[in-house]
Amino acid sequence: MLQNRRSFLRTATAGVGATLLGRRPASAAARSLGKTVGFAIAGLGSLSMNQLLPALRRTGIARLAGVVTGTPGKGRRVVDEYGIPPDAVYSYDTMHRMADNADIDAVYVVTPNVLHLEHAVAAARAGKHVLCEKPMAGSSDDCETMIRECGDAGVKLAIGYRCQFEPHHRECIRIVRDGDFGPLKLVEAGLGFTIGDPAQWRLRRDLAGGGALMDVGVYAVQTCRYLTGEEPVRITATEAKTDPVKFAEVDETVAWHMEFPSGAVGSCTCSYNAQGLNRLAGHCAGGGFTLDPAYSYGGLQGGSSHGRFDFDQPDQFAVQMDDFARCILEDRESIVPGDEGLRDLRVLEAIYESIRAGRPVDLK
Ligand code: NAD
Repeated sequence: MLQNRRSFLRTATAGVGATLLGRRPASAAARSLGKTVGFAIAGLGSLSMNQLLPALRRTGIARLAGVVTGTPGKGRRVVDEYGIPPDAVYSYDTMHRMADNADIDAVYVVTPNVLHLEHAVAAARAGKHVLCEKPMAGSSDDCETMIRECGDAGVKLAIGYRCQFEPHHRECIRIVRDGDFGPLKLVEAGLGFTIGDPAQWRLRRDLAGGGALMDVGVYAVQTCRYLTGEEPVRITATEAKTDPVKFAEVDETVAWHMEFPSGAVGSCTCSYNAQGLNRLAGHCAGGGFTLDPAYSYGGLQGGSSHGRFDFDQPDQFAVQMDDFARCILEDRESIVPGDEGLRDLRVLEAIYESIRAGRPVDLK
């Protein structure tokens, strides 16, 4: 499954990294002041080993300062390959000891969804800022607890919504904000792939919190929210389950409509059993834009009614970590704070409620 998912999302990363969005000025300024921000990566799975650790070689001011892992051999591998001190390798049970490690400023939580809360809280209580992967947690209640814990500890909290730092997505947001084609009327967003290994945590409710919707549907929810700049007021959703054995605990394919106060509509799909769904389109009164692929780590393609896009393809993870580092150094809020993750979880829960109830669900 991992090969499948990885190769699907990776699409094309060759050549990225040379021109990182905003990297050089921030890097030069911060380095001249001698300021960098140390990150500990918690969870050495696929995303961490294949994307985040390599990305930390391309960052300007974010640098690798430690890891948290339940597999000591993986910790030793990172020590050897990335040159961190052996005593900067922690287990999930010893995360509290990070309080004594001044070299670690922030913890990037990259574990199964439902465990994000536990690991984010451990990091916050050790006095470390928290960058938490999507979906923020297994429930909106857990998101609220995470926000409260980070607030009580006086640390910053941001969610790993890499697309908000990606030039194609920024351009789509700009087109809507500047009204290039008039008011936004319809967003179509979909992400899906065929999931492999039936034993993996993504198919277990206790670790994943849900299925395709939690994992990849959250991208479509995010997209509709950052393109419209509004919160949905009504959700109508259905689920299709063609393999009730493999998908006994989690959703397989979900389709939903989101209605926004302006009258804009989001028409979204996600799936764990449909390869190659990776698309975003925004339709305004007088034109629109499309990205396909839209959510890959690189190789995004698309354009608007004015022509094809031609943007640099930065390493989205490097840009995202540098931005959080800058937020820490400049003591400002991220553009993707914990509240963004919480709002998305509330929408995801409304989608599940609509599926269960078989009717539209109104959001306050
Ligand atoms: P993965 O299965 O490859 O890695 C998960 C890691 O968590 C492993 O190192 C595993 O050992 C560890 N872990 C700790 N406790 C565990 C437990 N009780 N059961 C199972 N594993 C446990 O998963 P991944 O693909 O790296 O995803 C990790 C997180 O990152 C998820 O929240 C996922 O949604 C998110 N993610 C985000 C993106 C993105 O583009 N932003 C892409 C992939 C994954």
